[in-house]
Amino acid sequence: MISKLLTSTVALLAVSAALQVNAATMPNIVILATGGTIAGSAESQTQAGYTSGQVGIDILMDAVPQIKDIANITGEQVSNVGSQDMTDAIWLKLAERVNQLLAKPDVDGIVITHGTDTLEETSYFLNLVINSKKPVVMTAAMRPSTALSPDGPLNIYNAVAVAADKNAQGRGVLVVANDDIHGARSFTKTNTNDVQTYKSIEYSLIGVNLKGQNRWFRSPVHRHTTASANAGEGVEN
Ligand code: ASP
Repeated sequence: MISKLLTSTVALLAVSAALQVNAATMPNIVILATGGTIAGSAESQTQAGYTSGQVGIDILMDAVPQIKDIANITGEQVSNVGSQDMTDAIWLKLAERVNQLLAKPDVDGIVITHGTDTLEETSYFLNLVINSKKPVVMTAAMRPSTALSPDGPLNIYNAVAVAADKNAQGRGVLVVANDDIHGARSFTKTNTNDVQTYKSIEYSLIGVNLKGQNRWFRSPVHRHTTASANAGEGVEN
């Protein structure tokens, strides 16, 4: 009996040590939530109408516990609005927080959840004012969190996998949705209802992402983030 107890205690200690080693080697990713359909809710799983920006960061993260297997995650609520109601004040708060977080040596990347309506504008803006090479990855959803088959959780998982990938560094702000990796400059929303709404028509995709496996095709050639004219002191224009 005692030897069985000892064996299980030793096994538990080994598992806990392995988890600690894993946590120490995994990248540290912060998820900043701003609202949108990804945080939307409806009264039934099948109705078309819903309200954006209803669900908080904790519920968004709880819907995709698998992110904890690939990164050490913390979450913050920056705002909770439908992105049709995005404001300059929220933009400035978001940009300031991203720059603050990325200046910390123990933050490896940022994921931002956002509505699709102005995802292209916010990602373009952040691409000009973030002063870091670390990954900044925006994501969104076309279906609310309460839908029968929400697209948000997998988009968040893929966004975390991109933010945790060293190969994402130096490529500017990225938009990860529907298994594709877009550059902030090329990304656009093309359809009001379709989950395949996200396109990079002019310059094509930066890469694709299949359940956390990233494949990289290109890097943006235009100036962005640390090379942008707006990125802060000491940056050559
Ligand atoms: N109106 C919503 C928003 O931009 C649309 C969406 O998120 O898909 O927040």
